[in-house]
Amino acid sequence: MDEKKTILITNDDGIAAEGLRALSESLAEMGDVIIVAPEQEQSASSHAITLDKPLRIKEISPRRYGVSGTPTDCVLLAIHGILERKPDLIVSGINHGPNMGEDVTYSGTVAAAIEGCILGINSMAISLTSWEPVSFDGAAAAAGRLARVLLDMGRGKARLWNVNVPAIPREAIRGIRVTKLGSRIYNDLIIKKKDPRGRDYFWIGGAEPGWSTEDDTDFAAVSAGYISVTPLRLDFTDYEGIIELEEHRLAWNPEQTTQ
Ligand code: MN
Repeated sequence: MDEKKTILITNDDGIAAEGLRALSESLAEMGDVIIVAPEQEQSASSHAITLDKPLRIKEISPRRYGVSGTPTDCVLLAIHGILERKPDLIVSGINHGPNMGEDVTYSGTVAAAIEGCILGINSMAISLTSWEPVSFDGAAAAAGRLARVLLDMGRGKARLWNVNVPAIPREAIRGIRVTKLGSRIYNDLIIKKKDPRGRDYFWIGGAEPGWSTEDDTDFAAVSAGYISVTPLRLDFTDYEGIIELEEHRLAWNPEQTTQ
């Protein structure tokens, strides 16, 4: 028999979120599930960590902890403060709302998985692509299936998956597609209004942005009724940019200047 796997679950919607509950129920049979999630909603908190105030961990029930910080704080505290050994898998979600394309850079859900990957643990962010009150059943079932694959892949190079599940009835989901990140088309992002005292205020958001129409993206897969799995990497280096700067002879070292 295999040793029982440990799975750490977190999110950015907060410890009371429905998506977190659905996720933990789906993964419970797969191993020892520990929940460490923010006490308050932390959506769009990105990869922030708390450095300017103390963090508190509250044990709400056995194996379920609320943290007074961000999703990344939760992963760090879980690994270095709560768990006796590194978990075999980290799953962040199920987020209430999509995390596709450039939006992964704002997402607290994805950031928690990024932190897991940095710590050398296979990690997956999973999001349901609707902000409406809808069932998490299909996404929870998908999470179970994908978690099993990631657990079987084992250790070695840590994988980082960004998963989006279409918000359609579970039976209507057509399958799984491996995708690349799509691209947003933003419009009217800032709304300017007057407050009751006559001063300007601004609201980020505006009309729902569109998407580019390439067909191998996360957005295209979800639109066609498929679960989208995008493997991500953390190396932001632009290797073509390195070559371009070599051609421009940008690098400069005064010790090697001969004139
Ligand atoms: Mn969220």
